[in-house]
Amino acid sequence: MSNFDIVKLIYGWRIEEARKRLEKKLENEIYITDLIYCPLKYYYQRMYKEIAIANAFDPITISGELIHLGIGKLLEDLLGKDNVRLEVEYEKEVVVDGATYIVKGRVDAVIGDWLIEIKSSRSDLSIPHQHHILQTRLYLWLTGLRKAILLYITQNRLSQYFIEDPVSDGEVADLIRSILSLKPAPRYSWECSYCPYAILCSNKKTAQS
Ligand code: SF4
Repeated sequence: MSNFDIVKLIYGWRIEEARKRLEKKLENEIYITDLIYCPLKYYYQRMYKEIAIANAFDPITISGELIHLGIGKLLEDLLGKDNVRLEVEYEKEVVVDGATYIVKGRVDAVIGDWLIEIKSSRSDLSIPHQHHILQTRLYLWLTGLRKAILLYITQNRLSQYFIEDPVSDGEVADLIRSILSLKPAPRYSWECSYCPYAILCSNKKTAQS
C-alpha cells in the first residue's frame, strides 16, 4: 500500500476536528445546532463521544463540508478575500430560569452586513427546510446582523432564500428549556432515520411507532 494516502488525510482532518470541538465544549455551552435538533442528541454527544466523533467521517457530512469549503473559496475569489469572512464564530450569554448559558455558533460566511448560510443536499424536495430557517434566524439573533441568505446547493437546483427575522430572546429561552426538559425528542419525525444515536436510543421513532 502506498504511503501517500488521501483518504487517511481526510479521515484525520474530520476526526481531529470533531474531537477538538467536543473536548472544548463547556458544560454550560450550547451550540446553535444543538437548538435546532432533537434535544436528546445534546446529551448523547457527551455521553457517547465516540459515536459523535465517528459520525464526522460520514461521507454525506464530508461532501457537505467540501461544498462549504468550495463555495467559501469561490466567494473569496469572486469578491476578494478582504470582503468575505468565512467560518466566523460568535457567542452570546443567556440567562434562563436563573442559570447562565453560552450560546455559540459558527456562521458559514459574513459578507458586509449579509450573513450567508450554506446547505447542500441531494434533493431539493421541500426546501427551504423548517430547521434550516430556524438555524438562520438563530444566527441573525446571535450575530446582530439583520439580513441573511440561506443558500441551497442541490443536484437539481441552486436556490437562495432571504431571511430577515431573527428569533426573539424568548424563543431562544424556550429552545434552551426544551434541551433541559429533553422534549420533544425527536423534534422532527424524520430525525431518527438520520441519527447516529438511533442504535441505542429508546426514543427512536420507527416507521410503526
Ligand atoms: S434516535 Fe431519534 S429520539 Fe433518539 S436521539 Fe436520535 S433523533 Fe432523538
